[in-house]
Amino acid sequence: MKVLKFGGTSVGSPENMRAVMQLITNGEQKIIVLSAMSGTTNALVEISNCLYKKNKDEANIAINVLETKYNKVIDELYISDDSKKQGNEVVEKSFDVIKSFISKEFDLLGENTIVAQGELISTQLVAILMEENGFDVKLLPALDFMRIDENKAADMNVISNNIKKVMKEVGEAQYYITQGFICLNANGHIDNLQRGGSDYTASLIGAAIDAEEIEIWTDIDGFHNNDPRYVTNTRKIDQLSFDEAAELAYFGAKILHPQTVFPARLHNIPVRLKNTMNPADSGTLITSESDGKGIKAVAAKDGITAIKILSSRMLMAYGFLKNIFEIFERYKTPIDMISTSEVAVSLSIDNTKYLDQIRTELEKYGTVGIDENMSIICIVGDIIQEERGFASKVFNALDDIPIRMISYGGSRFNISVLVPTAHKIQTLQSLSDNILNNNN
Ligand code: ASP
Ligand code: MG
Repeated sequence: MKVLKFGGTSVGSPENMRAVMQLITNGEQKIIVLSAMSGTTNALVEISNCLYKKNKDEANIAINVLETKYNKVIDELYISDDSKKQGNEVVEKSFDVIKSFISKEFDLLGENTIVAQGELISTQLVAILMEENGFDVKLLPALDFMRIDENKAADMNVISNNIKKVMKEVGEAQYYITQGFICLNANGHIDNLQRGGSDYTASLIGAAIDAEEIEIWTDIDGFHNNDPRYVTNTRKIDQLSFDEAAELAYFGAKILHPQTVFPARLHNIPVRLKNTMNPADSGTLITSESDGKGIKAVAAKDGITAIKILSSRMLMAYGFLKNIFEIFERYKTPIDMISTSEVAVSLSIDNTKYLDQIRTELEKYGTVGIDENMSIICIVGDIIQEERGFASKVFNALDDIPIRMISYGGSRFNISVLVPTAHKIQTLQSLSDNILNNNN
């Protein structure tokens, strides 16, 4: 069985929902994972922000705007009065939940409950549409099987056991529809897999049922070899290995949630990125195989802060790096890049929530310097198979760029350089001109 995930734009209008229905109803049994309609999750986060600030009037306005939008969707989506009635009930029920928080104390559980309504609505609306059109469709409630543990990591055992149970309970169907993104946490409370997490849902389900393929349907043909928002002449990549795709997804290529690759890789399930607007295109296929063509792509991740710790105590000393890393661990702040010399270490982070505390603690070990507004430029491919002189080619391409850090050799699939964000586009374009569009 295949698992197909459709993103917010793919279900973003009645017309697109119908297009999705056409795409999935080829007679093969499958599980379909849906995001919320585009714009909905943002709107729900906004409503939650108003409620945190106890700004009830603004919350009410935002709720009404969103509800009106859904009423219009229902009017256009269905033909029969019965379907319209069912659709209205779905929307009303979710908006009752949302509105109930106006007069309640608001906390993270409230926010998670509100934000979950997007996927709960979209899946039910599409299921009603498919029923109206005579298809054999059943809903698999994601909250009955998707779990994260105390560390917010997906609980694969629970997911795997539960989904099989839930599928039995709801009974045989040709098309199963479920919510992306939402789950229960270790306390049994409603939670989610973070923004963009529907891709991850699809991959976790794929792994849980040992799917034949996981398809992620979005509004672009697949991974591009550079960021089409900033660079001209980008090309779609036909094939990537899991490792290459993981690096690209993590370092900026917005098309795929970074964790998506891991469950698929573990179970060796091919992942295919497809475009709802151009279904004939084969998209990007991600498998255990690299097609061995050297550098495949570059991507950029913004909002990076570089931290340098300079200390004479580092010289010939052991335990220094451990002490430094422990500070980041204590503040639950992941480190992306590291680069060391005999007397200094530089590293990069993207979560600056505890930057002040981290800086104060680091100052016990040396002089601390912080550079903000940096971007990681990630160069991805099967680099070992590239001819010699490859590093010099990369550096030649970066001739005019003030590079703050370089990371080479950490993995054979990636070289990362840290540059000021002001130089990001220039860096991406130069890598495109000198490497991507030159050799391949
Ligand atoms: N609806 C969620 C979001 O907008 C999850 C997703 O679309 O993947 O982040
Ligand atoms: Mg997405």
